[in-house]
Amino acid sequence: MRVNKTSANAKLNMADKIEIGHGSGGRLTRDLIRKVFLTHLTSEELRPLEDAAYIHLKNHNTAMTTDSYVVRPLFFPGGDIGKLSVCGTVNDLAVSGAIPRYLSIGFILEEGFPVESLEDIAKSICETAELAGVRVVTGDTKVVEKGRCDGVYINTTGVGEVVRPLPLNNVKAGDAVIVTGTVGDHGTAIALARNEFDIKSSVVSDCAPLNGLLTPVFDVDGLRWMRDPTRGGVATVLAELSEAADLGVEIFEDKVPVREDVRFISDMLGYDPLYLANEGKAIIIASGESANRIVGMLKKHSLGRDAAIIGHISSKFKGARLRTKIGGERLLDMLEEDMLPRIC
Ligand code: MG
Repeated sequence: MRVNKTSANAKLNMADKIEIGHGSGGRLTRDLIRKVFLTHLTSEELRPLEDAAYIHLKNHNTAMTTDSYVVRPLFFPGGDIGKLSVCGTVNDLAVSGAIPRYLSIGFILEEGFPVESLEDIAKSICETAELAGVRVVTGDTKVVEKGRCDGVYINTTGVGEVVRPLPLNNVKAGDAVIVTGTVGDHGTAIALARNEFDIKSSVVSDCAPLNGLLTPVFDVDGLRWMRDPTRGGVATVLAELSEAADLGVEIFEDKVPVREDVRFISDMLGYDPLYLANEGKAIIIASGESANRIVGMLKKHSLGRDAAIIGHISSKFKGARLRTKIGGERLLDMLEEDMLPRIC
């Protein structure tokens, strides 16, 4: 193997751009990892930079999930791809009744990407992981030629300890449908961040780790099932739930919390907030008797202030449907065509 002496001796500068050599696995890769990633990601499991991290789980009942992040733009009001890549994976564990413990982070970087922006993303990953109480224990960096990817893509795998398994067959007729807050914030924030519309607004993404909000709910007997309504939004989650559980789901338009500005912008752009992505919300199915208690618990948390019971599960019909404000009925189907691709 030929070693490029100039590159090998060069020290990484924050004003630098990502070079193909940063993905070589050689000295430049080490420099990048040390200077950018290890400055912010400081877990003792990561530090040895071995091929695999040794992790310890007290509970042998574990959950594992993975997700790739290709959001455009990389930085948006309320977050960035780094924050999103931690929240998305943490939230998939949390809605599965698990306590998130460990994360792996894989970066695919485009040649020419500013090192300073990569550091901002690393900082964001660090802050969000701390907030969620998870440790980044292993990672990977690859670099592709200019034009072969859009700045940065991230893949995050998460491992958590299962406290409350929540299989879909828990869901029964008579159960309540709860949403933990306003819907459509993330999708709206991303749409506006693309600057394709001449609209000024204060909508920010709801991107947040939900484990702090959801873990206390694991103790409630009547908790049945949870899902985070990301791509495809609340409507798609409920349509999938209805099909998989072979039960009817009915929600009421006037009960679904939607921010005034999100509703206004959606109307203007022809979006439906029920189909827009969320990155800091959960749908919770709970027994009718326990639903009010759960909403009360959620409302005490800053991320659950707008929590509400929005509908119920029924055996009297099939499919998911929306009762409109004027008393009409609309079928909620799974999202067919992505009106807003690359939102996460
Ligand atoms: Mg999910």
